Amino acid sequence: MINILFSARTELWPVYRDLLSGALADQGLDVHLSDDLPAADVDYIIFAPNPRLTDFTPYSRCRAVFSLWAGVDTIVQNETLTMPLCRLEDPGLTQGMVEWVTGHVLRHHLGMDRQILNQNGVWDPIAPPLAADRPITVLGMGVLGAACAQTLASIGFPVTGWSRTPKNVDGVTCIHSDDPRDALHDAQGVVLLLPATPQTKGILDADALNVMARGAFVINPGRGALIDDAALISALDSGQIGHATLDAFRIEPLPADDPYWSHPKVTVTPHIASETRPATAAKQIAENIKRAETGSPLMNLVDRTRGY
Ligand code: NDP
Repeated sequence: MINILFSARTELWPVYRDLLSGALADQGLDVHLSDDLPAADVDYIIFAPNPRLTDFTPYSRCRAVFSLWAGVDTIVQNETLTMPLCRLEDPGLTQGMVEWVTGHVLRHHLGMDRQILNQNGVWDPIAPPLAADRPITVLGMGVLGAACAQTLASIGFPVTGWSRTPKNVDGVTCIHSDDPRDALHDAQGVVLLLPATPQTKGILDADALNVMARGAFVINPGRGALIDDAALISALDSGQIGHATLDAFRIEPLPADDPYWSHPKVTVTPHIASETRPATAAKQIAENIKRAETGSPLMNLVDRTRGY
């Protein structure tokens, strides 16, 4: 019998219990799945950040931790987590991110706010340019960034993607370097889909913002730490950046008195760009547990030194 602890927000447990039980049974695994097990009995942990589990030391026989999140920045540095850590690459989450990013890019590209927010009796026929005339950069060309870049390119945007290592993505100009400015020159929009690591902290700073086209938009569904907040607010105030749509913040929930809430050129969304979809996620995790049990290489293993 394999003991699996589900340790995530309590309201997620009923949703996942049946899906995981079915997916694990489909893999032919004989498991005891619970949200409450003695630490010393636990073989695997299915995990999302929660205050109930920050010290992994008592889980002495645990063979792997499976994150329910794609981003693992909150636990990757946890020194008590000595067992393998796998993140989630969930097709449902990827599709959700593609839809959210495409929607917000098109909002800015088409200038939709002008019509939606200004029904003022003034006939003001400003037609938007075509996508082909609006270059967009995606910082981070992993699972989510590449999928978003490819969709934007398929609509007609000239898309540049930036990553640490070389990439080859159909229809996208791929650049790998140490400096995001290499990919940002004259971009009229940027989408941030990098993980939060010591190397990416504050990567969208004044220098990076200043090489973009004047009035460009910023869309950040990645992590709050990627942005130098003071530099972004200053760029919004000067008109260098026309609008920022921000889904992730250094402190979440974003405090009620944070200047982003009241800034007229900022849209705040509460970390909802995309979430793990339980039905597809349960299958991925069950397959990974089967791999662990049969000695096969684990999928989506986090590189702890790289930080993602
Ligand atoms: P991946 O790990 O698949 O991709 C990360 C990408 O960032 C890779 O292309 C990687 O380059 C690149 N990268 C990392 N560090 C650097 C660096 N120093 N310089 C240049 N490029 C770098 O992650 P995902 O695409 O799955 O997810 C991206 C992020 O999205 C997550 O880490 C998470 O923070 C966020 N997220 C937000 C959600 C939301 O609802 N707001 C939901 C889910 C995720 P390389 O490929 O060369 O290694």
